[in-house]
Amino acid sequence: MKHNIGIDAPAPKTECKDDKHCPFHGGFKLRGKMFTATVVASKMNKTATVQKTRQHYLPKYQRYEKRKSKFRVHNPACIEAKEGDEVQIMESRPISKTKRFVIINILSKNESNKK
Ligand SMILES: [Zn+2]
Repeated sequence: MKHNIGIDAPAPKTECKDDKHCPFHGGFKLRGKMFTATVVASKMNKTATVQKTRQHYLPKYQRYEKRKSKFRVHNPACIEAKEGDEVQIMESRPISKTKRFVIINILSKNESNKK
């Protein structure tokens, strides 16, 4: 069964079972912020770590520096993002102590993961 999650993301081709935190098949509701980030760790069960970089302006040097933040995100079995993938993240209610986001779409696959 597919749910309309109310955002502009294509539903994954595969269907996952027994994942009540999947926005597509588990009826899990999403709200809040949406952004893109890069997966840096995906070996945990249904969890990935993503990193987002932003530019911070330094007036003294009139240049930008890179600042980064890491998030724990839910990685549903039907999406299964791998390290290096560019993914779309959406905020949800807290899933666990550190998880408050869900991967809703893979924007670009890491080339070395395509095999
Ligand atoms: Zn699913």
